[in-house]
Amino acid sequence: MRIDLVTIFPAYFDALELSLLGKARDRGLLDVRVHDLRDAAHDRHRTVDDTPAGGGAGMVMKPEPWGEMLDGILGAPDAGPDPLIIFPSPAGEVFTQRMARELAHESHLIFGCGRYEGPDQRIFDEYAERGRIRLVSIGDYVLNGGEVASIAMIEAIGRLLPGVVGNPESLVEESHEEDGLLEYPSYTKPAEWRGRAVPPVLLSGNHAAIAAWRREQSLERTRRVRPDLLPPEPGDGASDSPSMA
Ligand code: SAM
Repeated sequence: MRIDLVTIFPAYFDALELSLLGKARDRGLLDVRVHDLRDAAHDRHRTVDDTPAGGGAGMVMKPEPWGEMLDGILGAPDAGPDPLIIFPSPAGEVFTQRMARELAHESHLIFGCGRYEGPDQRIFDEYAERGRIRLVSIGDYVLNGGEVASIAMIEAIGRLLPGVVGNPESLVEESHEEDGLLEYPSYTKPAEWRGRAVPPVLLSGNHAAIAAWRREQSLERTRRVRPDLLPPEPGDGASDSPSMA
């Protein structure tokens, strides 16, 4: 997978040289390219922001540097056939494991990292008309910029690419995976630490009992922490709601 990142703080993405994603890059599974948006700002101060039209607080990212930068990436001979531009935004659709799985099938992603109040709206309009863009939020809170949000998404997407995580089975039994539940608690050695014992069932060697215990723990944790993730009970369907009657 090819990933281009447009930012005014390229150093944030040094983190993508570490750990599993760093190894994936070394092995050619991920091709990450970081672009400094200021390279497309041609005044003496390499300005990328200006005051908001209509007045008000904050600054807005100017469209010209974004246009030049994105045109350069999209028009390069080695660009993917149908790249998807992702603009991290607290006003976007919410990023989920399901979206990560979907995006892991893309061959070329471009992340446009906003700062200040974000890019001028005409950037979104222009590239939505010319190709594919998505505004994506990593949660209902506001960050200072799109860099950390992009790293979070790239890590979630990147670890789903074939060959990135050594044992693909470890991807299956995770929170938000197949059954949509939160993962059960994990333990390792020693069997007792500071008077706290590993649950005896995990040391029993009885695989059916272990699987049943883990399932129950997953359900209990999901009920307690994220009841919104539980599958609907029979009779909870929309057809039972008075508005559908
Ligand atoms: N004025 C914008 C709003 O209220 O929607 C917030 C701008 S925020 C200070 C600057 C940049 O941080 C955004 O352009 C976006 O790239 C990024 N950002 C902030 N919160 C985010 C979130 N929850 N998810 C994804 N990106 C976020």
